[in-house]
Amino acid sequence: MNGFPEIAMVIVAAGQGTRLGGTPKQYRLLAGKPLLAHALAHAGVNGHVSRLVTVIHPEAEDAYRDAATASGIASGRLAFAHGGETRQASVRNGLESLAKAGFDAEGIVLIHDAARPFLPEATLLALAIAAARNGAAIPVLPVADTLAQLDSAGNLAGTIDRAKARIVQTPQAFRFGLILDAHRKAAAEKREDFTDDAGLATAYGQIVASVPGDAALFKVTEAADFARAERHLGAGAEIRTGLGYDVHAFDDGDHLWLGGVKIAHSRKLSGHSDADPVLHALTDALLGTIGDGDIGMHFPPSDPQWKGAPSHLFLADAARRVATRGGRIVSVDCTVICERPKIGPHRVAMQAAIGAVLGLGPERIGIKATTSEKLGFTGREEGIAAMAVASVAF
Ligand code: MG
Repeated sequence: MNGFPEIAMVIVAAGQGTRLGGTPKQYRLLAGKPLLAHALAHAGVNGHVSRLVTVIHPEAEDAYRDAATASGIASGRLAFAHGGETRQASVRNGLESLAKAGFDAEGIVLIHDAARPFLPEATLLALAIAAARNGAAIPVLPVADTLAQLDSAGNLAGTIDRAKARIVQTPQAFRFGLILDAHRKAAAEKREDFTDDAGLATAYGQIVASVPGDAALFKVTEAADFARAERHLGAGAEIRTGLGYDVHAFDDGDHLWLGGVKIAHSRKLSGHSDADPVLHALTDALLGTIGDGDIGMHFPPSDPQWKGAPSHLFLADAARRVATRGGRIVSVDCTVICERPKIGPHRVAMQAAIGAVLGLGPERIGIKATTSEKLGFTGREEGIAAMAVASVAF
């Protein structure tokens, strides 16, 4: 970009947030490297950004140095500044450090978050060009969902016109002198409540242009985002397998539940809930992939609220636990062991019932059956057993 202003970046990584436990997220490993290393690498790899200032917590200098080394960006292009009390103060510190290093007021500065590591080159260039032309520019995405407004009781009060609404990402790009000035004014006036730099610039009279954002700029916050980020990198997800087994005894009755399907039969299965051994085995298989106990621990038979409960509630709870830990269910497979009833006629209905709970298509839900050749308790038709495995990607 001959004759184009020099481009610098301030990457905010000063948070001590340990929502995921232990290490702050910007230093958590993603495909073997700290998240911050990926952010630095994507911002710096194509050479458009000449200086990268990372704003860090004062106690995180060692972690920062490890990330800087892992980024593969030449150390001469990297610098750090210490963060402040708020994100706004941290950005200001980063800008002041650029000013101290003599960065040109006419240069372009991109203000970015370490939590959005995958900056596409096209977005970077679009932002820099729009900021050079307009003084300020942000990346935005259209809103696909309906936006609701709630009243204080949490009830629907109306909808917001999504045609005009946009999701704002980072980096946000500015002429350096302009955003430094706005930050200094805000600090002098003790206005520390801006949620982002574009909002701050707007408050001081700057018009902020928009350019198309990119889905790759998603924010890595929760465990589920780390799993998505691993997939984005093509790092190959970790697959975990869980095992479940369950038995219920026959009793007098005229129907039973198997795989979430009500089946007319000369006997019923006895149990505290609806006694569905297929869903119980599946629930345990899912819990097994995250080391989170078993169905009896989460839904004790001694608890009266689960009397007669439909077992899809247990399965849904296990699926929620898996998702919360960043897991994506790849497939489940189940074998029912009984002499009667015949399972084949109900297979499609079971796949549909289980698929509705787990969000899986039938090609990912195995339902198989076998007799035990009249041997043992299942062979004597004293009860039905079910076995299940679940595969979950993390
Ligand atoms: Mg059971």
